[in-house]
Amino acid sequence: MSSCLFCKIVAGDIPADKIYEDEDVFAFHDIGKQAPHHFLVIPKIHIASLNETNDAALVGKLTLTASKIAKDLGFADEGYRVVMNCNDHGGQTVYHLHLHCLGGRVLSWPPG
Ligand code: AMP
Ligand code: ZN
Repeated sequence: MSSCLFCKIVAGDIPADKIYEDEDVFAFHDIGKQAPHHFLVIPKIHIASLNETNDAALVGKLTLTASKIAKDLGFADEGYRVVMNCNDHGGQTVYHLHLHCLGGRVLSWPPG
């Protein structure tokens, strides 16, 4: 979608600190990191939010890509959190589906 920030990142029209890319997904460091490690995994196709998809394979791939990257970056054993914010109450600000992965510190629960 031409007006979507994350579609522009996938297309290379806006620079991002890329970690990983394959035919389905794209991962990059979050520009406003909330933990020592904070990256996003997104589908290459435009999906506005988790409410807008039934693609179990793609949603699963986002999650497993995050765990692989956390292992590759060396913080998986200590632990991490993956989260998708959905719509207003979930705190979603960018309406292209994305999975946050946060690690490198103890994360509190419940979230605010
Ligand atoms: P959410 O609030 O769940 O929609 O998360 C959107 C995330 O995208 C936030 O954590 C932002 O810091 C991050 N973000 C916004 N613009 C960029 C960008 N150009 N590059 C990397 N991360 C971004
Ligand atoms: Zn998009």
